Amino acid sequence: MIDPHVHLRDGAERAKETLEHGLGVAWRAGLDGVFEMPNTDPPLTGWYAICRRIDDADRAIGRLGIGIFHGVWAGLTTDPSQIEDVVRSWAELRPRVVGLKLFAGPSTGALGVTGLEAQRAVWTRLAELGYDGVVAVHCEKESLFARLPDGSVDWDPAQPSSWAGARPPEAEIASVADQLALSAEAGFQGTVHVAHVSVPGALEAIVRARAAGRRVTCGLTPHHALLSAVDMDRPDGMLLKTNPPLRPVGVPGLMLEALLAGGIDWVESDHAPHTLADKREGFASGIPVLPFWPRFMRMLREQGMEPDRLVRVTHEAACEALDVAVEDSGREPDPDLEREYPFDPFADSLTPDARSPR
Ligand SMILES: [Zn+2]
Repeated sequence: MIDPHVHLRDGAERAKETLEHGLGVAWRAGLDGVFEMPNTDPPLTGWYAICRRIDDADRAIGRLGIGIFHGVWAGLTTDPSQIEDVVRSWAELRPRVVGLKLFAGPSTGALGVTGLEAQRAVWTRLAELGYDGVVAVHCEKESLFARLPDGSVDWDPAQPSSWAGARPPEAEIASVADQLALSAEAGFQGTVHVAHVSVPGALEAIVRARAAGRRVTCGLTPHHALLSAVDMDRPDGMLLKTNPPLRPVGVPGLMLEALLAGGIDWVESDHAPHTLADKREGFASGIPVLPFWPRFMRMLREQGMEPDRLVRVTHEAACEALDVAVEDSGREPDPDLEREYPFDPFADSLTPDARSPR
């Protein structure tokens, strides 16, 4: 089992988590590999930072005495020479560098490439360089966020579910359309991976692009399959703030159905832990999801997903798309994992689909 989308922490972010802790939890959850996103501190946007991160992860894995595969998504910026540097890092360090990540929308860290022309320039540069690997894209179009007259995002921390309205489904749908169009126009030869797809409208655009012969994949998180914005109205709902936000009641069930029906390529957790203070006082986006893998697998089995399809969405599809070989060990998970973080996003959910037997 592989988690192709995690945010590990360390160094300046040690209060949130360490590489050793994150990798250890992943291993105990039954995962044989994790692919780490680049919006770390410092960000993984160049050869030196990437090599250092791989070294740090290898040391943590050595201390833990585990056999987990650690891969890195290298971050893209608008700087043409930086893009060349990460493409070379991918070519020389693969499979440890599994692909490239484009934040076509603002999220944690400063890697947002939010303007249409800047995004066009990135796709054009990747095409010029002949990059034919995978680009994972965070799709949320910033110009469609709800704004106050002073330019700040229009949401009310006293009512955390307002985050869902501030970054609406239309922003994701429009961004997916933008990235598919821009990458095609640029002559991009690789695969566009839409990370954490969260609404049916985005999925429809992906299905149309695939039908037109494009290499497009998408991943679904357990939280976008099981939790909805109403969960943010329960006590301490701020802890569920994430990007893209949790969607209205009814939407997660449709995403779960799409996963079961075969329209989604793989499951990715988007594990992104913070301290409670970062969440409650700093309104940080991101939730810890690694410990939920075993329970989500159980739920998918209970919902009728066949064993070979389960292996497909939790291992094979990502390995194939990224051309990374990781052995699927089928290890039993540690059942005591769910109390590893100060809170469990999936406990006490108000969304009907999440109320599956534990
Ligand atoms: Zn993420």
